[in-house]
Amino acid sequence: MSWQQKIEQSLQQRHAAVTYRTRQLNQGSTGRCLRIDNQSYINFSSNDYLGLSHDKSVIAAWRKGSRCYGVGSGGSGHITGYMQPHAELEQQLADWLAYPRALLFISGYAANQALLASLTAAGDRILADRLSHASLLEAAVNSAAQLRRFHHNQPDALQRLLDKPCDGQTLVITEGIFSMDGDSAPLSQLQAQTIAAGGWLLVDDAHGIGTRGEQGRGSCWQQKIKPELLVITFGKAFGLSGAAVLCQHEVAEYLLQFARHLIYSTAMPPAQACALQAALIRIQQGDDLRDRLQQRIKQFRHGAANLSLGLGRSDSAIQPLWVGDNQSALELVHNLRKRGLWLTAIRPPTVPLNTARLRITLSAAHQASDIDDLLEALNAIDR
Ligand SMILES: *Cc1c(COP(=O)(O)O)cnc(C)c1O
Repeated sequence: MSWQQKIEQSLQQRHAAVTYRTRQLNQGSTGRCLRIDNQSYINFSSNDYLGLSHDKSVIAAWRKGSRCYGVGSGGSGHITGYMQPHAELEQQLADWLAYPRALLFISGYAANQALLASLTAAGDRILADRLSHASLLEAAVNSAAQLRRFHHNQPDALQRLLDKPCDGQTLVITEGIFSMDGDSAPLSQLQAQTIAAGGWLLVDDAHGIGTRGEQGRGSCWQQKIKPELLVITFGKAFGLSGAAVLCQHEVAEYLLQFARHLIYSTAMPPAQACALQAALIRIQQGDDLRDRLQQRIKQFRHGAANLSLGLGRSDSAIQPLWVGDNQSALELVHNLRKRGLWLTAIRPPTVPLNTARLRITLSAAHQASDIDDLLEALNAIDR
């Protein structure tokens, strides 16, 4: 088969399975709303849970940072790309979450790839919740270690895997709040099991950081655990992008030696590190934003409880509505968009077969009337 034939065949298969993906040009976003095809919508598809992507203090910090440091870091952190704003931000993150060290990464995807590639070796095993993010599962598949997945949020299933013998090291992986279902992991239970088995725990708290726990410290703080490896990302509640790994001093030094995503990649722009510092302050002082988000979540769940579409068990900003087949999910999305509501259908292979869903994300940027509009539309379509 030629390159051309191979590519065309893959595209046709995607079309046939109704899983073909396209991007939509967003002509202007305010956090709460977006514009597509010259049409304005309320945005229920954004991970900007606290509305910080448009926060004045964060924008001002980015401006000031770019005036002081320019817009690019100019190189890998190992060469000349590690500057004062990066160092300050790492220290602030470590202090905030009570870890000895924090290391910045350009994205959560890169952080997860780097961690698994550099830490695990042949003979080790990775035991991951089967709904873990693609950046974790892919990295685990590509690693030299053996990957075993356990049933979502089921400590018993993890225990059965832990009970099997392993000569190498064990790394247990879960998320704080799961990105597609919005539910939380039983972290203290998972941590106790992992410790008892002599393994390490990695928690990816992309969706919990900023939204959960005292001062927004996330799922682990809320559930009173401190995993050996905590990954936080800045593309969600922080309203920016990038990520950090929180860990022990020696682990940070190890990653600086062996994590190729750090060594061979340009460090994040220093102005972005300045903006992240401002976002961190807003998050630490953000009880008002977290309260608003919780109100929206309560309002939505109360109003959606009687829909025939299944409401998930989530109490987070991520609220899935189960649909089942791909075609119905797409039709539902189409209907909602006609009413000025922007939602996304999540389909396999992102989620398991026949679990297509609407993934509704709520934000402190939403007004109560936005949630009313959404509920009214869902009820009208449901009938
Ligand atoms: C979004 C997300 C990532 C990826 O983070 P980026 O910074 O967007 O690359 C990783 N893990 C989880 C659980 C996520 O939700």
